Amino acid sequence: MIVGDSSGGIVPGDNWTAKALEKAGINKLASELPIQAVNFDTAGVVRYKNPRGGKYEDIYISKAVDDADVVITLPKLKTHTLTVFTGAVKNMYGCVPGGRKAFYHKVAPSVPEFSGYLVDVFEKSRPHLAIMDAIIGMEGDGPSAGSPRKIHAIIASCDSVAVDSVACSLVGINPTRVEMLVQAQARNLGMMDLSKISIIGPFESLKLSDFKAKKQSPWIPAFLGRKVLSWWQTYPIIDQEKCIMCKICYNSCPIKIITDNGQALLIDHKRCIQCYCCHELCPKHAIFLKSSPIARLVQRLRGR
Ligand code: SF4
Ligand code: SF4
Repeated sequence: MIVGDSSGGIVPGDNWTAKALEKAGINKLASELPIQAVNFDTAGVVRYKNPRGGKYEDIYISKAVDDADVVITLPKLKTHTLTVFTGAVKNMYGCVPGGRKAFYHKVAPSVPEFSGYLVDVFEKSRPHLAIMDAIIGMEGDGPSAGSPRKIHAIIASCDSVAVDSVACSLVGINPTRVEMLVQAQARNLGMMDLSKISIIGPFESLKLSDFKAKKQSPWIPAFLGRKVLSWWQTYPIIDQEKCIMCKICYNSCPIKIITDNGQALLIDHKRCIQCYCCHELCPKHAIFLKSSPIARLVQRLRGR
């Protein structure tokens, strides 16, 4: 039996996944139990041709996952700045090794495109069982800068899409807002319709009415012109007071548009693809997101 992961972001010379396996106590458990801790960044990959082709090219999945007879995914329940929610389906993105994850933020920057690629990866690495830890989840600016929230639930199913849909409903997020779930169901990879999911357990009594769901940054339809795009944006801003110049954002930006002027890091907002990797990976939560007035208005009108 093996247990493994690949963390978000790539910083030259800094192995985040190795650190995570150590800090989370996985290595220690592996030394005490008949299991092996595996770093998916360095354990080899299998390349699949993506049937959707085009700019989505190939799908790279960790060899350890591809070789496994049974795959169990163990997500946390969290909000997500780009995809609204992250759970069992998105957790499989951890099977894509290292910097390849950032590459797809670059080629598929909009929410529908990126969600489509998440579903491509999920389809190729589809887990046999999902067990979601929602005992303490994350609300607000997830997946990294939010706040812990006690939810007191564990949600499990052989259908990862159903796990995510039930989890969303538990915290007051309409699953239809989560594009990857909509696309996964459309491809017959799981069920998101709650009326067709049999829930065993105290679902109603665990429901939260005041969970702070992340307002999804409005994605930018391709047919809109540059003029409109310039009005409809949500940009990452570096809080220079909090920044410790660790340069994790600088090294992790998939299109390298963060520059160092010797005193501070600066983001070129004109070229930013709004993937929010920098926001997600900043260890000091020194990057916040600021929406343009039009984007704020759209979010209000959409009730998010
Ligand atoms: S903004 Fe965050 S990630 Fe970037 S250099 Fe500053 S502290 Fe590091
Ligand atoms: S600056 Fe941040 S949000 Fe913009 S492209 Fe780079 S990592 Fe993505």
